[in-house]
Amino acid sequence: MARGTLFRILLWCLGAIFVLSARPALAETAPIAPACHANAGRDVAFADLLADPQRWDCSPRDWSISAPRAFLSFDLGRQADPSKLRLSTRLTRFETMRLTLIGIDGRSASRVVTPDDMTLATSDWMMGTALPRLDGPAETLIVEVDEARHPGMLSDARVVAEMPDNASIRLELLFAAICGILCVPLVFNIAFYRVLRQSFVLWHALAVLMMLTQTFVTSGLINRFVKLPLDQICAISAFSWGFGVVAGALFSVDLIEPGKLDPLHKRLMRGLALWIPAWTCFYLFAGGGLRALASPLYFASFIPVLGLFIWVMTVAKLRGSRAVNFQIAAWTPIMVAGTIRMVSSIGLTDAPLEMQMAQHLSIAFEVVVASLGVADRFLVIRRQRDRAQKQSRAFAELAERDPLTGLLNRRAVEERFEELKAEGFRTMAVIDLDHFKKVNDNYGHAKGDDVLRATAHALQSDDDTLSVRLGGEEFLLLLRGKNTAARAEQRRQAISSRVAANVPGLDRMVTASMGLVEHSLGSLMRADFATLYAQCDRLLYEAKEAGRNRTMSEKIRGFSGHAPPIEATG
Ligand code: GH3
Ligand code: MG
Ligand code: MG
Repeated sequence: MARGTLFRILLWCLGAIFVLSARPALAETAPIAPACHANAGRDVAFADLLADPQRWDCSPRDWSISAPRAFLSFDLGRQADPSKLRLSTRLTRFETMRLTLIGIDGRSASRVVTPDDMTLATSDWMMGTALPRLDGPAETLIVEVDEARHPGMLSDARVVAEMPDNASIRLELLFAAICGILCVPLVFNIAFYRVLRQSFVLWHALAVLMMLTQTFVTSGLINRFVKLPLDQICAISAFSWGFGVVAGALFSVDLIEPGKLDPLHKRLMRGLALWIPAWTCFYLFAGGGLRALASPLYFASFIPVLGLFIWVMTVAKLRGSRAVNFQIAAWTPIMVAGTIRMVSSIGLTDAPLEMQMAQHLSIAFEVVVASLGVADRFLVIRRQRDRAQKQSRAFAELAERDPLTGLLNRRAVEERFEELKAEGFRTMAVIDLDHFKKVNDNYGHAKGDDVLRATAHALQSDDDTLSVRLGGEEFLLLLRGKNTAARAEQRRQAISSRVAANVPGLDRMVTASMGLVEHSLGSLMRADFATLYAQCDRLLYEAKEAGRNRTMSEKIRGFSGHAPPIEATG
């Protein structure tokens, strides 16, 4: 796919994530937001606060959990039937909560709510509980929360009607689809790892697993399968996010091609494996005076993380890394959503922005694009490996070839002789040109080379014939199959005509003498290359002695390589 097209698709996906996430996640009917809020010590009861309007802040701003006890008051507008309403708020840890419903006739009813009484919504990182029972219409709801760990518990608190079932199911289907998408790269990673054995595949698998856990828990899908206490849900969510980012960082460092990052970049990225879990623990467990600081400091701890990612990716990009392109595309939505959350969490907006839907969608986007990056790197590495293998094969072949004639050299067959025997090569012939020295002497060395090349041409290898230049003007044939002696003889005789055709201007015919042995299966078993060669060489010598331009051959049978010749022809 063209780069531009890919870039445009990524841009569209990015846009879709933010457009989709801007839509309200829940189709609640007329949720009622807190009218006023207040902070106080644990010794202050709401009756005292109610009497003092000065202490209430009635703007939808400055949500603070810095005091141990926070108050919210909801104006229910003379709701006829409060039993159909419930309190819904951001899922976070707290100690206790007290709901007091005040009727239009001044009567009131209270209920103490612990974290265990909270129903975790099967939607988006929300929890809720029923209002106290009060006979008759209600006018005001007062919520007291002790030790809330996130200001979103105040700013996101709403009095809502029961959530319509179909809205919840639609959301659940979307989250289930996202979780399904996240499962696919896990399977691919296992397959890639079996081929490549590269650590980045494992880091990617871990990152995907963590993101899957994160989405499964924070979307509320987990509530369909198991009811975990609030504390555990919060811990699983924070740690799966933290370790997901750590695994993502280690994945990026290993994925980016060698030489594109300095050791310092890698050390800092690996350092996140300590930095992020440490801040996660602080976020979850910091108590006393640090409780109210836990959330803003935790989010602020991601500012250097974000800076580091941007720095490392910029460096790799400037150094021409191909793999980092996928990383940049993959991480951009998460980084944008993360930045908005960070900025809002450290108090720069009226209320913390949760961006839950943006987070789910950007996680899915990150995993899909990063998986494309893994697949791309996989292909690049495999191509490099194939090229290296091909090159080493080519070098090995070069070392086995005679440069002048292109025939195999002696080493190529001698080293593999046992294999060749097993493949059925049982006939060996040694061929030597007659009076070759005279060609050199009369026409020069270059002409002599031409004659050697023409000879090689006449001796052509085929599936059942291996032609070898032993050195000088001496050649060797190894043959298998039928009529090996006749086929070798044909080649010997072809030398004269081939030389005559290819090397014009010689005053006489170039001929060759040949010594040939044919072994039976039994006799060949104990014969090594040197033995066969010695037999051929002896026969060749006899051919030369007998007047040249002829073949002397033997058929050797039985189980001894030294068996006497049964048949000899001249
Ligand atoms: P015989 O019939 O007894 O084999 O005689 P011969 O002249 O062929 O044998 P001899 O061993 O006396 O000479 C071989 C010659 O081959 C000597 C050497 O100069 C020549 N020679 C060896 N290698 C090469 C080569 O690569 N190129 C050329 N042009 N000549 C070579
Ligand atoms: Mg010779
Ligand atoms: Mg010779």
